[in-house]
Amino acid sequence: MFDISRRKLVLSASATAALGLSGPMELLRPAAANGEGDKGYLAYKIGDIDCISVYDGIWQRDHDEDFIRNASVDETKAALSKAGISPDFVPIEFAQTVVKSGGKTLLIDAGTGGQLAPTAGSTLENLVAAGIDPASIDTVAISHFHPDHIFGLMAKDTNEQIFPDAEIKLPEKEYNFWTDPGLIEKLPDNRKGLAKRIQATFPNWENVTLTGEDTEIAPGVKSVAAYGHTPGHTAYHVSSGNDQLLVVGDIANVPALFLANPTWQAVFDQDPEAATRTRIELLERAITDNAVIAGSHFGFPNAGRVTKDGSGYVFEPITG
Ligand SMILES: [Zn+2]
Repeated sequence: MFDISRRKLVLSASATAALGLSGPMELLRPAAANGEGDKGYLAYKIGDIDCISVYDGIWQRDHDEDFIRNASVDETKAALSKAGISPDFVPIEFAQTVVKSGGKTLLIDAGTGGQLAPTAGSTLENLVAAGIDPASIDTVAISHFHPDHIFGLMAKDTNEQIFPDAEIKLPEKEYNFWTDPGLIEKLPDNRKGLAKRIQATFPNWENVTLTGEDTEIAPGVKSVAAYGHTPGHTAYHVSSGNDQLLVVGDIANVPALFLANPTWQAVFDQDPEAATRTRIELLERAITDNAVIAGSHFGFPNAGRVTKDGSGYVFEPITG
């Protein structure tokens, strides 16, 4: 199905140690997936704070009528075409944000861990390429517990921690939802495995801290309640001088679809009405505050500016 040439990269000894491995390890990454060029990392500044957009990969999702509750496949294809994107599939890209502030390195969300799509899983390699030894990451803050945001914390098959020495900051509301012992039987079948994996890992990890709303995560970085996509979905606000960055996780998926049409409801939104309200509220806040905004599925780089366009919004990526 995929025709991907692969490049190899050998991790440094310290990065290997960070992964809990005894010897050098080769990671495979899809090169030029989807013919979109060599995406890796892009550094930018928010005031005095160094930020980096780190690419994980892409899921070329087949169209189906269930993907958007209130839009048809034809409307979806038309929106992609209008944005100059191939309508052959939905290009769901994954990217993370690194924030270096006050001598601390913070990673916001952990990516797919190479456990979701064969064309995704490049976060560790791209961290190394950006000059960040994974072992040097002090804190990993998570927006919500969907696989493309937390599987990068846990090794495939063994669940061994990928960042054993980092403090893992999890939104308390999200944690309480997913670790409720009665949850699994209430969930649809396609979410039971995720809940079981969460319950088998996070409660047993000693480096986990639960965080509330409006809590300082790192110097200049605070949590922002952004509920709807999931019960505890959390954004992060970075501030330095007059500059601001809103790391908004999954308040919106592919911009060509859900910024252009902010009332469209992706199947991933657990509470579609609340997710829509949160989406519009944070997009408006970014415009009002002239903040840079970074979405997990905004492509690469995943940070940029949002402007109003009729009843929708347009995302314009930064250039570094
Ligand atoms: Zn996501």
